[in-house]
Amino acid sequence: MVYAVPTCGFSRTYVITGDAGLAVVDVGSTGAADDVKAFIKRDLGSDVKDVRTILVTHFHFDHIGGIGRFLLFAADDAKVFFHRRVKDYLEGRSALSPMKNWCTAFGPTAWKSAGYVRKLSHLHFESLAGIPLPGLRKLSPLPYSMDRIEFFDGDGARRYWAGFDGWEVIETPGHTEDSLCFYDGEAEELVCGDLMVNMDKREKGRLNSFYASKEGVVESFDYLLRNVKVKTIYPGHGEPVQSEGNVLLGVDTLAFGRDGGR
Ligand SMILES: [Zn+2]
Repeated sequence: MVYAVPTCGFSRTYVITGDAGLAVVDVGSTGAADDVKAFIKRDLGSDVKDVRTILVTHFHFDHIGGIGRFLLFAADDAKVFFHRRVKDYLEGRSALSPMKNWCTAFGPTAWKSAGYVRKLSHLHFESLAGIPLPGLRKLSPLPYSMDRIEFFDGDGARRYWAGFDGWEVIETPGHTEDSLCFYDGEAEELVCGDLMVNMDKREKGRLNSFYASKEGVVESFDYLLRNVKVKTIYPGHGEPVQSEGNVLLGVDTLAFGRDGGR
């Protein structure tokens, strides 16, 4: 089961409960790390030391900027799971892809996401890693050692076990090359990172126009449409989107010249 941490700043953090304890998806700031810890105790009645798995949807600062602090609270053997491409970023073999549509797509989402900021530490990112700007896209060290990190290697597969309960990884490049979705087929829940955003409770979610590759976004979304049924989308920014049918069919794709999931 997925829980959206209600106040965790600019980007959303999700806590997933399962037979294997707890997993956390994305911790975007040092303030978010504190909020997730408090949420697990106060709202779930669980121990933050039960978190052994930290899943990351993509290597952008607003989704990784509090992981080092969160590791101080989590189980001593907790691991951070990234797409294998992040290894190339960290070892300086490649840089984050440049992003498109800063004004028309990043701007409005950032403006609305800023409405989720409750305290200064929600804007405190613990390193410069993951900032997709020229000059900053190269290596910037993470505040934890490589032995805390695992890299997903799907062995050429697009979809594989995430290592936690019934959750799968679905590789969905587009927003960034290392973008991942996490999917629970039994509960039909999809944590989608920044592939889709949903900044308004009344909205149905929309395909994110802030991306490295438009073709990638469209192809990844089509892959989801063809292969999974989703009751609830948990986006990287904004509110979860729910539907009794396949919620993907209602996602706003007009900016991509499409009409919904069709
Ligand atoms: Zn984001």
